[in-house]
Amino acid sequence: MEAAMFCTRLVLLALLLALSSPPCKLIQGPTGFGPLDVLQATSKASTDFGGFVSGPPSAVLRPRSPRDISLLLEHLSSFDPSGRWAATVAARGAGHSIHGQAQAPGGIVVEMDSLPSSIRVRRSRSIPYADVAGGATWAELLEECLKVGLAPRSWTDYLHITVGGTLSNAGISGQAFKHGPQVSNVLQLDVVTGKGELVTCSPTSSSELFYAVLGGLGQFGIITRARILLQEAPKKVRWVRAFYDDFHTFTKDQELLISLPEMVDYVEGFVVLNEQSLDSSSNAFHSHVDFIAELRKDRTKIHYCVEFAVHDYSLTETTSAEHVVEEVSGKMSYMSSHIYSVEVSYFDFLNRVTVEEMNLRRRGLWEVPHPWLNFFVPESGINEFKDLLLDYISPEEFEGPVLIYPLLRDKWSANTSVVLPESDVSERVVYVVGILRSANPKTCSPRCLLGLLRCHRQIADAASRIGAKQYLGHQPSPAHWQDHFGSKWGRFAALKARFDPLGILGPGQGIFPSSS
Ligand code: FAD
Repeated sequence: MEAAMFCTRLVLLALLLALSSPPCKLIQGPTGFGPLDVLQATSKASTDFGGFVSGPPSAVLRPRSPRDISLLLEHLSSFDPSGRWAATVAARGAGHSIHGQAQAPGGIVVEMDSLPSSIRVRRSRSIPYADVAGGATWAELLEECLKVGLAPRSWTDYLHITVGGTLSNAGISGQAFKHGPQVSNVLQLDVVTGKGELVTCSPTSSSELFYAVLGGLGQFGIITRARILLQEAPKKVRWVRAFYDDFHTFTKDQELLISLPEMVDYVEGFVVLNEQSLDSSSNAFHSHVDFIAELRKDRTKIHYCVEFAVHDYSLTETTSAEHVVEEVSGKMSYMSSHIYSVEVSYFDFLNRVTVEEMNLRRRGLWEVPHPWLNFFVPESGINEFKDLLLDYISPEEFEGPVLIYPLLRDKWSANTSVVLPESDVSERVVYVVGILRSANPKTCSPRCLLGLLRCHRQIADAASRIGAKQYLGHQPSPAHWQDHFGSKWGRFAALKARFDPLGILGPGQGIFPSSS
């Protein structure tokens, strides 16, 4: 009965899609729809955190169950690809993409937050895990897990993004050197393929689909449930920042820290361009705010900050986090006495970017364009990459953080769709570089924003010459995507032909030329 009603609504949707020009705006879902809902839903689905790409869909689906998504895709894939029914579909998690990746201009956006946000934590097994809906956020998952003293092992810096959204990319943060990216911490997935099939997959069952979808940029299926590995959650974290005036010493100390996974739980780092570069520090790290202003007096020098953390399970006096930090920092080569440490709750540590979000929202600086650029850079090219970056950005004008931190290749499965630099296999380290720029409209006009985007294209072209690969990136054409995938392209295209043969899914990425 429910399926029959859904099909009736789909036929109505299809008719409206076919007849309307310009495309109609329709919100479809079991709760019915009204004109106001319609406009609000489509305008939300045509925006993202980047704030400069907008492709309004023709319709928005707010599914109540994975079956709703399956019915939609089954229907769309039953039409002739050469006809006008070759509609496209994009899953939208929290819409925190930068370049319209979760948009479906003229197609259908599936809003994943409308699925029941079910989270079931299993503690009793030898490996604790949580089953979580694809549209749930990492913040929701953390909250539920902490109730029983557990937590996922691998994170992103920001938690109000969805499990399905980050697993479709990679999901990285300072824990990735130790536990691998989020895509390395998944036991099982429920996926609706582009053909509408509902498949439960894992490394041992339907493994091709499982690995294709991880880092698959939404091209092969829609993740409706993920089984995420958990660990015991510490109560507290010792969070440390140490400063450097030399890039080589900065990266060597980061590499030292990631060689000590038995002691260190998190490693990241920043380029200190100006007083705003470490804004999120202002709440936890009162002590070094004045110090950064002091450093910046010498405008000819760029400084760097290593950030690391040690979980405090408070086992014994001699294994306390403070003790571990003392031992680890004794091996490091930061600027004499320029090290700061604070103790915070585990939740506050993981939630640190939300504090920054609230600060920026108060100042009207959160909902501004974000022309972000992220890369995986081979270890052998990181010095050259840093020079390239500093040639393009002006420390005085840059707003936002610039992150640099190392990861270990052997924590990444080569079977997933994620693309890392194709460098020498003997190179174990890959660097993440995040150029997380805000373009405040008060100081950066639309023309200035266009200039920044052009400049980013130049950085991306130069970066690819030193073997770097974009992460969360946008490529200007399908041919650029093929270059991006390199030796992985053939497999990626073959998997697309198998799981989404009509090219319905993920149009906002622009990887495959539209079939319509
Ligand atoms: P969306 O933007 O909604 O979607 C992203 C892509 O995934 C789209 O192609 C979409 O179609 C697809 N998709 C969404 N849901 C599903 C699903 N259920 N099944 C299949 N495909 C799906 N990333 C990191 O790795 N590390 C970080 O530390 C980090 N920090 C961030 C901080 C901030 C403030 C922001 C805004 C982003 C950050 N990101 C980080 C980037 C983030 O991981 C990506 O933007 C991610 O795509 C956001 O998830 P989302 O739920 O908003 O996905």
